[in-house]
Amino acid sequence: MTRAAVVGAGIVGLATAHALQARGADVTVYESGPPGGGQSAGQSRIFRHAHEDPRLIALVVRSRSLWRAWEHEFGTELVSPDGAVAIGDGVEDKLRTLAPFDDVPVRRLSPDELHERLPLLAGWTGPAMLDVHGGAIRTLAAVAALTHRLEGSLLREHVLSVRRTGPRSTEVRTGTGCESYDHVVLCAGRGTAPLARGAGLELPVELGAHVRLTFALAPAGEAPGGPAPGAARGLPTLQDGSGDFGETGVYAAPYPDGRHYSVGLSADTPARADGGLADPAELAALADRTVAYVRRALPGLDPRPVDHVHCWVTRLPWGEDGVGVWSEDGLTALAGHNLFKQAPALGEALVETALTGVVPGHLRHEERLGRAGG
Ligand SMILES: Cc1cc2nc3c(=O)[nH]c(=O)nc-3n(C[C@H](O)[C@H](O)[C@H](O)COP(=O)(O)OP(=O)(O)OC[C@H]3O[C@@H](n4cnc5c(N)ncnc54)[C@H](O)[C@@H]3O)c2cc1C
Repeated sequence: MTRAAVVGAGIVGLATAHALQARGADVTVYESGPPGGGQSAGQSRIFRHAHEDPRLIALVVRSRSLWRAWEHEFGTELVSPDGAVAIGDGVEDKLRTLAPFDDVPVRRLSPDELHERLPLLAGWTGPAMLDVHGGAIRTLAAVAALTHRLEGSLLREHVLSVRRTGPRSTEVRTGTGCESYDHVVLCAGRGTAPLARGAGLELPVELGAHVRLTFALAPAGEAPGGPAPGAARGLPTLQDGSGDFGETGVYAAPYPDGRHYSVGLSADTPARADGGLADPAELAALADRTVAYVRRALPGLDPRPVDHVHCWVTRLPWGEDGVGVWSEDGLTALAGHNLFKQAPALGEALVETALTGVVPGHLRHEERLGRAGG
């Protein structure tokens, strides 16, 4: 039986450990904080198929089917059935890139259909589309279900170092222990690049900090065109690349309670070489811009934020959705951004690598999966 360790119990580490167990491996997961407390924190993420790189769309299609398998296995809805809406000039490119994928139903939305599906949004008559099988990921439910399934395999320990010590032998040192495994998979988010570097793998991860705010639905009658109370059940997610409301990259997703919508800008503030924030004031500035956007674009929301997610994010230099895997005998590391939707498929791929030594699909970092421009 393969003895494997996974460092990090974010959504990718949990997915990997779950898939390792399913393949009969003896797995230990190391996590220094609460599972799902890193980049996977907070309610709701967008599941969307549209990506610039068609190879990444194929991975996302595989992931969508694995999310359905998880829903069946855990007996709970994990991706809302309400679709993912995109607006702005990029819509035609998205439709073109998705056209070859028969199992990804997408269509243009007229202004009336858009208003009917997303009454929170201010009047918009430009290009709009619906990704029918997109939706809001039930992040907390997914993390809870996987954590529960992995009970007994989770060690609440901070990993200080990972080192290959021989063929099929990789050592993990924590505050209070030292163990060796046939294979170690690094899914430690912000912690991955430093641990991998110590073991001789250089990952070009760029670190930044991000803010996302959550807003309550405005009470009925207070917002022009605003929804009835509780009407967020059934709301799609939103990507706004239009620029018409003062920001060119905005994403938003409903909470499962049907009464809140979270909104973020596709922008971060960079970290210094020592890992601290270059300019902490920039986080507050990003939050202010998000509130200003909500006032202009989403009159169906009360513009006073009720919740924040402040989070480190790790990006690869080849694009906003870039993802890659580095692997050498006994050690595999994954890095990228916007990975929540891909987590089940990434877990499946990382297990293949841990068991066979081969990085499947286009995930080898040299292939620059998710590169901007396709
Ligand atoms: C606000 C926000 C909105 C987002 N929106 C979307 C979206 O709409 N769609 C989408 O697909 N993605 C989205 N993303 C990105 C997505 O959430 C992340 O890419 C994904 O959650 C990363 O998961 P992970 O498991 O790789 O990393 P993490 O969740 O960061 O997990 C890594 C874990 O490793 C642990 N760890 C680190 N170092 C060590 C160590 N040395 N020892 C032990 N444990 C360690 C950490 O505590 C952490 O729990 C968003 C991210 C944010 C922050």
